[in-house]
Amino acid sequence: VKEIFNSMSYGPAPESRTEAMAWITQNAPFGHWINGKFTDPADGFATKNPATGTQLAQVTQGTAADIDAAVKAARKAQPKWARLPGHKRAAYLYALARLVQKHSRLLAVTETLDNGKPIREARDIDIPLVARHFYYHAGLAQLLTSEQPEMEPLGVCGAVIPWNFPLLMLAWKVAPALAAGNTVVLKPAEYTPLTALLFAQISREAGLPPGVLNVVTGDGATGAALVDHADVNKIAFTGSTEVGRKIRAATAGTGKALTLELGGKSPYIVFDDADLDSAVEGLVDAIWFNGGQVCCAGSRLLVQEGVAERFHAKLRARMDGLRIGDPMDKCIDVGAVVDPVQLAQITAMVDASAGEKYQIPCPEGCFYPPTLITGLGAADPLMQEEIFGPVLVSMTFRTPAEAVELANNTRYGLAASIWTETLNLALDMAPKVKAGVIWINGSNMFDAAAGFGGVRESGFGREGGWEGLLAYLRPKGTARALRPVAAMAEPATPEV
Ligand code: NAD
Repeated sequence: VKEIFNSMSYGPAPESRTEAMAWITQNAPFGHWINGKFTDPADGFATKNPATGTQLAQVTQGTAADIDAAVKAARKAQPKWARLPGHKRAAYLYALARLVQKHSRLLAVTETLDNGKPIREARDIDIPLVARHFYYHAGLAQLLTSEQPEMEPLGVCGAVIPWNFPLLMLAWKVAPALAAGNTVVLKPAEYTPLTALLFAQISREAGLPPGVLNVVTGDGATGAALVDHADVNKIAFTGSTEVGRKIRAATAGTGKALTLELGGKSPYIVFDDADLDSAVEGLVDAIWFNGGQVCCAGSRLLVQEGVAERFHAKLRARMDGLRIGDPMDKCIDVGAVVDPVQLAQITAMVDASAGEKYQIPCPEGCFYPPTLITGLGAADPLMQEEIFGPVLVSMTFRTPAEAVELANNTRYGLAASIWTETLNLALDMAPKVKAGVIWINGSNMFDAAAGFGGVRESGFGREGGWEGLLAYLRPKGTARALRPVAAMAEPATPEV
């Protein structure tokens, strides 16, 4: 059966890249998006398609002067944007959501070309979640005046985002910031700047006033210039714990608000009474969605001893059926790693491990095979460090108490999945596991209405829901007129 399966060609032809390549060709080389238009392109770097290694476009390296120009544009636009009634800001957010849907194919293909993620995921998961995020925050903007009358926006928000979900991370930051009445300067990741620039251009189609959203491309130095800019009121960062730590140090004592969404090493706990087939499917999603380049990836399997052998066997059989390759192929499960630098990092970490490895064949190039590693101790670096690739490490446990101990045995605390048919067991476990998000018999369930974020070295602050919106607001500093003293006196005794 495996032979027949492997010799089959997998259905439909690859997704067309014509529209995305036409957009890139028309607009490259790219400048920044400042004050509602592209600046002239300047010195910078190439962004590449990791699946082929070919250059997609030249992008400008943002300087401190570029950041300053963007912050000035954002500052100028902010008071007027904040004065709009919530329902008027909502109208822009609804327009953005509709336009994301209208251009969803262009956005999805551009994302896949730039990042290497399977087109199936970009098209069916990332882009619909982006639209949902803008719809949801349009709703919150409408409710803001009545629900939070004592709150006001922070001002100019700087957003620094990673490459694994380029447009979704933009949405997580831009939607609440704009809904709350802030303006934004966004610095996308250097590997994946294209969809942020495309989105900025789409924002003009939505009629977004100039300066409300600005995008400055560049590497970490550009991000640092944004973090250091004196006229920025908040930094919202998603990325590695290492950079998050630097940003926290850089903003300490400056009065800037800060939220950090950082790394993870999330446990995926399977009890012996779990529906093992469902748990295997859940695990495929948990660790091989976006090739494991997911902050909340269920990258640490903890499986109860009695079912471990059976579960691993089922998992290996399922791995054999995964398809790795051209991310533009609609039937591909695991696409390219974002960049050769990242590939080298994953390879070095796995090669240094003495664990027992199960890997499936994988194409040449910037690809890494889905991998299962067993036989490691709890303190092994691969059980502790985020690999950020399609690599699952596995350990067994005997009792629920041991599962909790192992689950909490890292410096992270972003997410966790618990699989059992005994709901009481799951509900007993959930509060004991140190993680910002816990999924029971599921994984990677994201919703714009639910706060997402970590504890411990996975960061602080939540994105999504009211909680996420409140991170873009502060109590109003309004002066209230005191009633004249006379008016506060005891009411006069009514005349009889
Ligand atoms: P990274 O920290 O290297 O880079 C993230 C962003 O920060 C990029 O735009 C980069 O240019 C910028 N940057 C780098 N140095 C900077 C500095 N000194 N000052 C300001 N900005 C700087 O992370 P990455 O490799 O792009 O992304 C992978 C990491 O992101 C993983 O650790 C992953 O877990 C994490 N992540 C977390 C979440 C979450 O929600 N918690 C979501 C996605 C990714």
